[in-house]
Amino acid sequence: MTAARARGTYPAMNSESYDVVVVGAGPAGLMAAGAAATAGARVLLLEKNRGPGHKLLISGGGRCNFTNAETDMHRLISRYDTAGKALFSPFARMGPAQVLEFFASHGMPYKIEDNKRAFPCSDKSNSVLQVLLDYIDKGNVTLRTHTTVKALRHDSDRVQGVELENSTIHAESVVVSTGGLARPDTGSTGDGFSWLEQMGHRVVRPEPSLVPVVVEEDWVTELQGLAFAELRISLRLGEKTITKTDGKVLFTHFGLSGPGILNLATRISQAAADAHNQGEPAPTISLNFFPTLDGGSLDRQLQNALSAYPRRRLRTILESMLPPRLARRVLAEALAHSGSGTGNTGGTDNEITASEVPKQLRKRIVARMQDFRLTYRELQSEDWAVVSSGGVPTDEIDFRSMESKLLRGLFVCGDMLNIDRPSGGYSLQICWATGYVAGLSAADAASVAHG
Ligand SMILES: Cc1cc2nc3c(=O)[nH]c(=O)nc-3n(C[C@H](O)[C@H](O)[C@H](O)COP(=O)(O)OP(=O)(O)OC[C@H]3O[C@@H](n4cnc5c(N)ncnc54)[C@H](O)[C@@H]3O)c2cc1C
Repeated sequence: MTAARARGTYPAMNSESYDVVVVGAGPAGLMAAGAAATAGARVLLLEKNRGPGHKLLISGGGRCNFTNAETDMHRLISRYDTAGKALFSPFARMGPAQVLEFFASHGMPYKIEDNKRAFPCSDKSNSVLQVLLDYIDKGNVTLRTHTTVKALRHDSDRVQGVELENSTIHAESVVVSTGGLARPDTGSTGDGFSWLEQMGHRVVRPEPSLVPVVVEEDWVTELQGLAFAELRISLRLGEKTITKTDGKVLFTHFGLSGPGILNLATRISQAAADAHNQGEPAPTISLNFFPTLDGGSLDRQLQNALSAYPRRRLRTILESMLPPRLARRVLAEALAHSGSGTGNTGGTDNEITASEVPKQLRKRIVARMQDFRLTYRELQSEDWAVVSSGGVPTDEIDFRSMESKLLRGLFVCGDMLNIDRPSGGYSLQICWATGYVAGLSAADAASVAHG
């Protein structure tokens, strides 16, 4: 910080004035700007990209899972781990029920899918963005894109506005909604974190949290694009199971993704760090493709198929039980792990017929179908993350208003907050609630400052 800034004096520049300046037109900033405007404030919304909501548009695979329709507040809060209790207050004002009502009343029909995930009926994230653009438009918010905020202006205890490249903007209240660090190509490059650190806030180092996993096995590229609605996923250190969960899994060219994996990512990387510190091999991720069957039942199912079609190739039979690319990999793995005493398979995998399958090989195939292991190498980089953990600790923000406890007139919302959450609409729910409260409070603070 320069001496001039520390004293709160600045060189003369072109200057404009607003009640509220919102920095960052992602979901949190759009909601904050609209709410401040409906409360009567003159609002300027600044966005460095050429358009608003770039990350919102790619959310939920372009369909935007815009909230989670969990109506039990305690259950909802529990999804946010230890930081969740801070959300009671904003969720009391803009919880999932109010969010659904907000979007429906702005002309966006929605539907609720499995695990209470809410989507626009159009299956297009653009419908969500359109509601927000109409909302700020109705409130006469000035949206200025292609405009990068360089710094905050402030004196020793109050925010005064923002600095752009060649001008300054005076404001009684500033809402910082510049996002976290996930997918920096969408504009969230952590600018707000450096400003808040300069104000004396702590910023927990953001790390990718909901992020895919890179595995050691090169052959995983063969499986790229295969998706499974519900697998049992176990995280293992050697033969010890550390945790188990059920969820969707997607194979990628580098490893594993999908909500079931994303939600486990932090646990997996912690287990890897622990294993490394103790000199143990890296953890493995074990997938059970038949989670509703026990091993005996699956073995009987395979035996029945083998005896029903004794002249068919084993591979063909497995391809009727699993997606063909996966069936071939399961077979290759089972054959590769055949040690001594496992019986003669009678040829290469392509040639084995059902009647030739020895018991040991059949058992190994069943084992691979229910314990298909991949070895953890690393988490993918932030470029792949859906959410990055870290940000401003919840105890440094007054969640009744979303105002900084260190600098009056400064409001913080959305992904800037250090709140862990799973996938399933929980991230955007934070954005709507904290953005809404930040916008209303910013308008309120500006009117008080005006007298
Ligand atoms: C691939 C993907 C899929 C996702 N899917 C879902 C989902 O289905 N459901 C869900 O709940 N969550 C989902 N998320 C998470 C969700 O998108 C984020 O939680 C949400 O976008 C965060 O909103 P935000 O407004 O806090 O920040 P952002 O959306 O990151 O917006 C911040 C904005 O600030 C702007 N900005 C940054 N610095 C400056 C500056 N110096 N000056 C001016 N402007 C600046 C950026 O350009 C950006 O537009 C997904 C995320 C990703 C990456």
